[in-house]
Amino acid sequence: MVEVKLSESRDLTRIERIGAHSHIRGLGLDSSLEPREVSEGMVGQTSARKAAGVILQMIRDGKIAGRAVLLAGQPGTGKTAIAMGMAKSLGLETPFAMLAGSELFSLEMSKTEALMQAFRKAIGVRIKEEAEVIEGEVVEIQIDRPAVAGAASKTGKLTLKTTEMETVYDLGAKMIEALAKEKVQSGDVIAIDKASGKITKLGRSFSRSREYDAMGPQTKFVQCPDGELQKRKELVHSVTLHEIDVINSRTQGFLALFTGDTGEIRAEVREQIDTKVAEWREEGKAEIVPGVLFIDEVHMLDIECFSFLNRALENEMAPILVVATNRGITTIRGTNYKSPHGIPIDLLDRLLIITTKPYTEDEIRKILDIRCQEEDVEMSEEAKRLLTKIGVETSLRYAIHLITAAALSCQKRKGRIVEMEDINRVYHLFLDVKRSTQYLMEFQNQYIN
Ligand code: ATP
Repeated sequence: MVEVKLSESRDLTRIERIGAHSHIRGLGLDSSLEPREVSEGMVGQTSARKAAGVILQMIRDGKIAGRAVLLAGQPGTGKTAIAMGMAKSLGLETPFAMLAGSELFSLEMSKTEALMQAFRKAIGVRIKEEAEVIEGEVVEIQIDRPAVAGAASKTGKLTLKTTEMETVYDLGAKMIEALAKEKVQSGDVIAIDKASGKITKLGRSFSRSREYDAMGPQTKFVQCPDGELQKRKELVHSVTLHEIDVINSRTQGFLALFTGDTGEIRAEVREQIDTKVAEWREEGKAEIVPGVLFIDEVHMLDIECFSFLNRALENEMAPILVVATNRGITTIRGTNYKSPHGIPIDLLDRLLIITTKPYTEDEIRKILDIRCQEEDVEMSEEAKRLLTKIGVETSLRYAIHLITAAALSCQKRKGRIVEMEDINRVYHLFLDVKRSTQYLMEFQNQYIN
């Protein structure tokens, strides 16, 4: 059995499509899960947001591991926006992984391997480790100025008062940096991890004992073979199963997470990791944190992928699966059968379905307003009115695209505020789907068929 290696946690799973949804900061719900009309960048779509909020609450309560949710609705009705809102509301502790159905067919690995990796990116492991610490109240930090100007290695002394005695420690450059980073001052109570040198601030001064006591129970004394008492503290870090997989299967270990060169991971490695994690759980050293896996354009998956999903959801560590589609009744890829949303009936049966509805003119106007703010674009009232009209008649997404283009047009004529003329210019420069189709029909014989 390989020794399962761990490393510092990195938040690599929270991949976002930069830009399109950057204005979404949550689901915009109040404390009783009621949607506010405009909040956290979200506008309207109240019943879908409310339903998403209920699901989030169930995730937080740990009630629905292995369940799946379908966001269904017409293009541009905010399905992805709602999924992003869910991710933002979850907090950093809960892993969130995102994947578009079509990506599965362009990756340099099998579809099921890519799905497996996505699943494991959405499963967190919270690991508790006991570390030997030096703990005490800082009496004095003294940094020696290097004799030669610009000399790299700094030294110094740290006087630390424990409940029993006062000790002076010699400091190296790294420790000095760590103390500076944590802004440690005299009177602070700190813990220093003996192995890594990591410094944790625990509170201010022993005399303000209430604050200090709050941190106290995590610390315990352990009798060592030589009779000395060692102080140990429980440290907690979070990683995803995927991160553990990668660290243990690539020669460059942790670095593979940054280069993206994760490749296929052998089944034996995963089995060993699962066994190890199960052991840690039994020993109370680790907890599983099921996160959320969001698959957009789910109708792009084929029958093999769907049967993989069905099976993967049975696993007790499975995350919540959120899928989205804008398709109605359509063929299930890889078969000759049609079904609602192109999803097989057995999987469909497991899904809690949330529908999104087309926006009203007023809602479109508000979303465009928020996007203008997000993109730092100032726009006149008439221009906004025109853009809203375009949004109603074409699509919300097309209107959103025109904001950036119109701002460029405004910049070009050295204007400060986007006016009707800018909107007009870009509306004629860039076709929406309806006009583009009309154009194609008119000039069909000039294209290759
Ligand atoms: P598709 O089916 O084509 O994938 P979709 O339903 O996922 O579409 P989104 O991509 O979420 O639609 O929405 C289009 C744009 O409008 C995005 O920039 C999104 O952030 C924004 N948007 C959609 N709904 C809302 C909303 N309720 N509040 C704020 N912004 C929204």
